[in-house]
Amino acid sequence: MLNIVLFGPPGAGKGTQSERLIEKYDLVHLSTGDIFRANIKGETELGQLAKSYMDKGQLVPDSLTIDLLKSEVIKHNEPKGFIFDGFPRTNNQASALDQLLDSMGTSIKMMLSLDVGEDELKKRLLKRAEVSGRADDANPSIIENRIAVYKRETAPVKSYYADQNKFFGIDGMGSVDDITKRLFDSIDAN
Ligand code: ADP
Repeated sequence: MLNIVLFGPPGAGKGTQSERLIEKYDLVHLSTGDIFRANIKGETELGQLAKSYMDKGQLVPDSLTIDLLKSEVIKHNEPKGFIFDGFPRTNNQASALDQLLDSMGTSIKMMLSLDVGEDELKKRLLKRAEVSGRADDANPSIIENRIAVYKRETAPVKSYYADQNKFFGIDGMGSVDDITKRLFDSIDAN
């Protein structure tokens, strides 16, 4: 299986690039953010709980997120692979993912990490707010908090994969097509 972690700060373009990758490599896209938002829309108990964290730009607790991710992974019967988008966001989540995949006789092939400067991230998130209707994109102080949480809790996950020689940094600045090409090249070369 081709299992990829698509990584990067909020607004780095993970969702946009995931669409390109699933099409080219015939993968299943699992975005924990999308799954939480679907639960909020469907007014489930999980959605209500997740919303209380997301609206403040905080991480949803690991236990909840890991259980949710597992239940989504096992829904798919013999996929060619998964793109994990927005997961793992903590080292705890990364080791839970390794255990889950190991129990299925597979593993993460690579982490592709999109590098985007902070000013550009803020611009992209505010622009996305105009169409997404996401409260966490529209408010500059919540954006600041998401970026701070990313630096403190999520960026360390890079070392988790670097230690396994699975880390690949990708320049996430420039046109969507240019970035897609860099991702394809990195996957095809490894
Ligand atoms: P972005 O990467 O642009 O911030 P996401 O849709 O990936 O957007 O995430 C939105 C919010 O959902 C996060 O700020 C966080 O509150 C919550 N979330 C998503 N994935 C996770 C995760 N793996 N662990 C904890 N919280 C998460």
